[in-house]
Amino acid sequence: MQKFVYYAPTEIVFGRGEEARAAELVKHYGGSRVFVVYGGGSAAKSGLLGRVEEILRAAGIAFSASGGVVPNPLVSTARRMVEEARAFRADFILAIGGGSVIDTAKAVADTVAAPGSDVWEFWTGRKVETALPIGVILTISAAGSETSNSAVLTNDTLPQHTKRGINTDLNRPKFAILNPELTMTLPKWQIGAGAADIFMHTAERYFAPILGNHLTDEIAEGLFRDVIHFGPLAVQNPKDYEAMSELMWCGSVSHVGLTGVGAKGDTAREGDWACHQLGMALSAIGDYTHGATLTAVFPAWARYVKDANPSRFVRFAEKVYGIKEGTEEVRIEAGIQATEHYFRSLGMPITLTELLGHTPEKKELEAFALECSYQKTRSIGGFKVLGYEDILNIYENAI
Ligand code: NAP
Ligand code: FE
Repeated sequence: MQKFVYYAPTEIVFGRGEEARAAELVKHYGGSRVFVVYGGGSAAKSGLLGRVEEILRAAGIAFSASGGVVPNPLVSTARRMVEEARAFRADFILAIGGGSVIDTAKAVADTVAAPGSDVWEFWTGRKVETALPIGVILTISAAGSETSNSAVLTNDTLPQHTKRGINTDLNRPKFAILNPELTMTLPKWQIGAGAADIFMHTAERYFAPILGNHLTDEIAEGLFRDVIHFGPLAVQNPKDYEAMSELMWCGSVSHVGLTGVGAKGDTAREGDWACHQLGMALSAIGDYTHGATLTAVFPAWARYVKDANPSRFVRFAEKVYGIKEGTEEVRIEAGIQATEHYFRSLGMPITLTELLGHTPEKKELEAFALECSYQKTRSIGGFKVLGYEDILNIYENAI
């Protein structure tokens, strides 16, 4: 087993109606002036926002609510909310929504806690040294930001948009309320994209450069099997409480670090993460749905890197899909094809042509590869380290 640090401080409150405990939890974690962040309207439309406001009001907690976070959340929105939260003198941030809302809440929490600072400073190297506490009421099972140390923003104020993430344990929410019923109003596309993202958060850790923790592998493989079984059921019937429950818990477990414990020494960022980097570049330029960008690149990525550690892909095929027949080469390919089948069953694209809606020209792919490599200044991945030319090759193979 490799050495590791596992830090998962988020209190998970799971079950029907548990958003009723929002005020109690905010108080428990020291909140008295709560800045509520939400998205484009689903939380208002479903009545959840109004219900939570009523709960806070009844508990005598001052709050100010601000909406307008879009998927692939923007620095410009975060900056506006930082101003609002500073003016309100917020001491607690409550996110009601999914990854986009939670990541914006994290940006606000980091920036408000450092007087005079700007959001993007933290996304370009400044260390987060303190942050306001964050609570989450989750409305979509997908990003896992409710338990993760990550936050991802698109800077829409630069001439060329760029989507980047930061990782700090200070961004781990104090609590996350998971009521699967709150996810039943989701469109099928978002449920599918979420189930894909959940699969990928474990895949990024499973295909790590350094492995050796048997229990981690078993947990990861169990999670794969669970999300592969229940993801399509959730897409077919969003009112299926069992399927939506499994998906929700898979989402939080997939990104809390558990499925990557010991995967790469004791760094904060265990795993490979190349597919996320490939996908984020697509979203930065084209504003595509996060989960769909991952399914569009994973098959091409897997076929490109498999020779770096074939036995890992053999094990993946056997433990996740029960594939035991044929040569190693045959089993590896069967495992990748089974994953393509899973993505298809979620309604997700498995090629760039499907994602973009047209066959991309070389120039378009070069623009993605430049963004992904930060203008040829970095490589990505760990299972196999990928430079600009590799990145471009994978995009080409993904057509
Ligand atoms: P999201 O972008 O937060 O939400 C996607 C869409 O679903 C929005 O249009 C939202 O509408 C809608 N929605 C949410 N809950 C709903 C509900 N209950 N009923 C109806 N519609 C609902 O989705 P996400 O996949 O969770 O987050 C994606 C973002 O997270 C990406 O930017 C991705 O890069 C990032 N990400 C972050 C992490 C991390 O650890 N921080 C990890 C992976 C990905 P409204 O706006 O109207 O609510
Ligand atoms: Fe993700």
